[in-house]
Amino acid sequence: MPSPRDTQPVRVRFAPSPTGLLHLGGARTAMYNFLLARQTGGQFILRFEDTDQKRYDPAAEQDLIDGLHWLGLRWDEGPDIGGQHAPYRQSERKDVYKPFAAQLLESGHAFYCFCTRAELEAKRQEQKARREQARYAGPCRDLSPEAAIARVAAGEDHVIRFKMPKEGSITVTDRLRGDITFENRNLDDYVIVKSDGLPVYHLAAMVDDHLMGITHVFRGEEWIPTFPLHVHIYRAFGWQEPEWVHLSLFLKPSGKGKMSKRDTQAMQLTGQTIFIKDMQALGYLPEAVLNWVALMGWSYDDSTEFFTLDDLVQKFSLDRLNPSNAAIDFRKFDHFNGLHIRALAPEELARRILPFFEQAGIPASLEALTRIAPLIRERMVTLDEAPEWTAFFFKDSVEPDPASLVAKDLNPAQSLAALQQAVARLEALPEWTHEAMEPPLRALVEELGLKAGQLFGILRSAIAAQPVSPPLFESMAILGREVSLARLRRALALLEQQVK
Ligand code: GLU
Repeated sequence: MPSPRDTQPVRVRFAPSPTGLLHLGGARTAMYNFLLARQTGGQFILRFEDTDQKRYDPAAEQDLIDGLHWLGLRWDEGPDIGGQHAPYRQSERKDVYKPFAAQLLESGHAFYCFCTRAELEAKRQEQKARREQARYAGPCRDLSPEAAIARVAAGEDHVIRFKMPKEGSITVTDRLRGDITFENRNLDDYVIVKSDGLPVYHLAAMVDDHLMGITHVFRGEEWIPTFPLHVHIYRAFGWQEPEWVHLSLFLKPSGKGKMSKRDTQAMQLTGQTIFIKDMQALGYLPEAVLNWVALMGWSYDDSTEFFTLDDLVQKFSLDRLNPSNAAIDFRKFDHFNGLHIRALAPEELARRILPFFEQAGIPASLEALTRIAPLIRERMVTLDEAPEWTAFFFKDSVEPDPASLVAKDLNPAQSLAALQQAVARLEALPEWTHEAMEPPLRALVEELGLKAGQLFGILRSAIAAQPVSPPLFESMAILGREVSLARLRRALALLEQQVK
């Protein structure tokens, strides 16, 4: 059911834990947030949820920021740019959470727990033996507040747990799945503040979402099991809940099971990746990443497949999100990359491929690449292919394999004769353009009773000296008369050696 809150200016957030690199799932969550914010004239917030210091990866924050920038998903408030609710890094908000934990203790929705790891483990074993659901079964839940406060004051190690009702049920509402009812007896007295005084996600995220005025929470389906706890927390405070949107998960390309770390590593060996940073290095366009991932969990009309970010801002809607898990399909990724490459103007494509030339040590100018771009645009799948296809443009000379100059079904002498005539006709051309070259060479093919592929194959090999290359006449036009003819003459010499 649509909510009137979907069309008023929303406040949404992407709240990654900086524990690893930005991946596809994160990019999709960030994008859906961004789309709704831009569509409604609302705000998109970046927040780092770094309360789990054990899993903190110092490289992750910068990678998340760089990845989102590369995708073109800008935020209005965040750890790097500040905002009215700064700081946006949970580890810097420790003092913000304290009064809220205190409030839950005070109202009887939470309790101090002094149980040691060993005690908890013993209880767990007992429950297991009785085939009972594992949940907190220690004595602290029933301690008097005075006794608990005295032990805290005496410096005893403790955590704070949410006091889950033991009876009754709670019905929560997810935008993709509707109402879901949970029996409270199946829920736990979850830890909400750890012994180091830092709240866990369950408390910190709820407090932050409330304080930051978050209207819609987009997060992964893995949060559904603790979703009732989150709603219990909202209700304990008497706050208005956000719209909850639990996004489907991504499955392995085979469709069998969720992606694991091992799958990710195996994929990388085959040049497939779920990490945004690697996609950039592999020659994918941010436009293609967005288009591909947008459709993994959302559709517009089941037939439109090409979307720019602006299109998505216009067309995105919560009601067309799909709760079923989607397998990651890398062939589609290539397909979308091709579509978006072909949608780029030549100068823009040149700008995007330039870094790959620099990396390959090929001295290509933006101007030259702009002329070359239309020749390769139609067949390109990833940007990193460009240097390999077009390296011959930037060499002083090329050295074709002599055997490649002998056309199929011709011998070296016949190939030589054909090439000599072709060179003669090209030399006679008053102007060196694609349009001027093609008719006389096609006429020559006819006269010699050859197939076009035979003559043009020789020329292509002479000009580019590589197995795949862009269209011949356009390539010769870009290379220019002098360079092209020099290469053709070199090929003549190589053929002559084979005839002697
Ligand atoms: N820090 C949580 C995560 O990375 C965020 C979940 C949420 O968006 O609420 O999974």
